[in-house]
Amino acid sequence: MITLKKDAMPNLEDSLKLKRCPHCSVDNPNLLTVTQEFKTSSDNGSNLKLWRAYSCRRCGGVVTASCLSNSREVVNIYPEPESVNEVLPSKVKSYLQQAIDSAFAPAGSVMLCASAVDAMLKEKGLTEGSLYTRIGKASTEGLMTKEMATWAHQVRLEANDQRHSDSESTLPTVEDAKRSIEFTQTLAEFLFVLPSKVTIGIEATKH
Ligand SMILES: [Zn+2]
Repeated sequence: MITLKKDAMPNLEDSLKLKRCPHCSVDNPNLLTVTQEFKTSSDNGSNLKLWRAYSCRRCGGVVTASCLSNSREVVNIYPEPESVNEVLPSKVKSYLQQAIDSAFAPAGSVMLCASAVDAMLKEKGLTEGSLYTRIGKASTEGLMTKEMATWAHQVRLEANDQRHSDSESTLPTVEDAKRSIEFTQTLAEFLFVLPSKVTIGIEATKH
């Protein structure tokens, strides 16, 4: 049985102590409260929550967080900090984590996404040819859907060796990196996370 360990949640206080900014991924971000604390509840007065909004000193992005009325421990953070699933093969996990952490250095980030995709395809036995020919093969072999393969061609997955061959191409932007990360996360979900959930589900119904 795989249990996913969640990081401890911070408290709702003047600064929000996260490991990384959910917008720019800076380490130990300076997220300072920019609003007075306010309360919300559902129309019948239940579901009472306390909220604050914080702004990142580096990127200016706003993060909101809430806690329940009986504890200061945060229960919701928006946007949610992006995380990498524990069930991924270790190489895939570390490339993907580094791609997420470096989204604000997008040229490096898209290369790390390409490395993560490369590692996933190798893990599934597709070792020959360029990244895109292997993605095509993965789709014809039914490892991924045709739509996933089309999506792969719409995001930037630049391997080291492709960088020099096309000097005319523009440098990737932060948005490009975020789109590449989203694709890579989805592919990881599809190839590794969902199958492991299915296996756990089958095991669970046996007992
Ligand atoms: Zn930030």
